[in-house]
Amino acid sequence: MKTICIFNQKGGVGKTTTNINLCSYLAMQGKKVLTIDIDPQGNTTSGLGIDKKKISLSTYDLLTSDISINDAIKQCELVNNLYIVPSTIELAGAEVELININNRENILKEKLKEVQGMFDYIFIDCPPALGILTINALTAANSVLTPIQCEFYALEGVGQLVNTIQLVKKSLNKKLEIEGIILSMYNNRTKLCNEVVAEVKKYFNDKVYKTTIPKNIRLAESPSFGLPIMLYDDKCKGARAYEDLAIEFLERQRR
Ligand code: ATP
Ligand code: MG
Repeated sequence: MKTICIFNQKGGVGKTTTNINLCSYLAMQGKKVLTIDIDPQGNTTSGLGIDKKKISLSTYDLLTSDISINDAIKQCELVNNLYIVPSTIELAGAEVELININNRENILKEKLKEVQGMFDYIFIDCPPALGILTINALTAANSVLTPIQCEFYALEGVGQLVNTIQLVKKSLNKKLEIEGIILSMYNNRTKLCNEVVAEVKKYFNDKVYKTTIPKNIRLAESPSFGLPIMLYDDKCKGARAYEDLAIEFLERQRR
């Protein structure tokens, strides 16, 4: 079992879109996948068709009370083999509620021990922030998968990203690795995009996935229907890209 944190402190770079669609395609390939939505925005939750009004136990309850993770896991009705710990806006309060809790960085890590070996992969969708929620995710994870959007400001965040990972590695999670970098909203016809790619490759070498995710309107539409792209339009460019990404991900696991 491997736990992967989808993280970039920059907002709107494609973390959630990558989480929903990578998890779905891996599940379709027969992997048993759990996704934990640790973002109060709950975009993975709604993007997988879960009605937030009908959630009884969420990531908030998992982090702030002594429930078992088994009680918070819901089967995703849309996709076989895919399970989720959903999130609601209540989770925004956890930052403050956990301030005085001992060992608050390790809560998720401890809870995950209860599902050890039950899944092939656990993916955690992080918020675009560096608070206690993200720290819990990074502490619980084996590795970090980072989407980077091909735009001018993309590189500004990269230094900070690497620093954060180094810091967590030093103090909370010595084994944390970089799983990979995914170039999202990619348009190889622009000079800027190519420049960003060159810079990112200089920095991360073979950690950069060969598969890139194009800008694709269908990917942007599918969350409003609560569907992963493979159920919304499995022929579109975005769907093809995420399926390829899942295949490349699995190939890299065998190396
Ligand atoms: P946040 O930091 O707020 O959690 P995020 O990093 O999770 O954001 P997403 O929510 O995945 O980013 O994407 C941001 C917006 O861009 C969303 O409206 C999403 O539908 C859209 N989007 C993501 N990837 C693509 C793509 N490849 N093509 C077109 N639109 C995309
Ligand atoms: Mg998101």
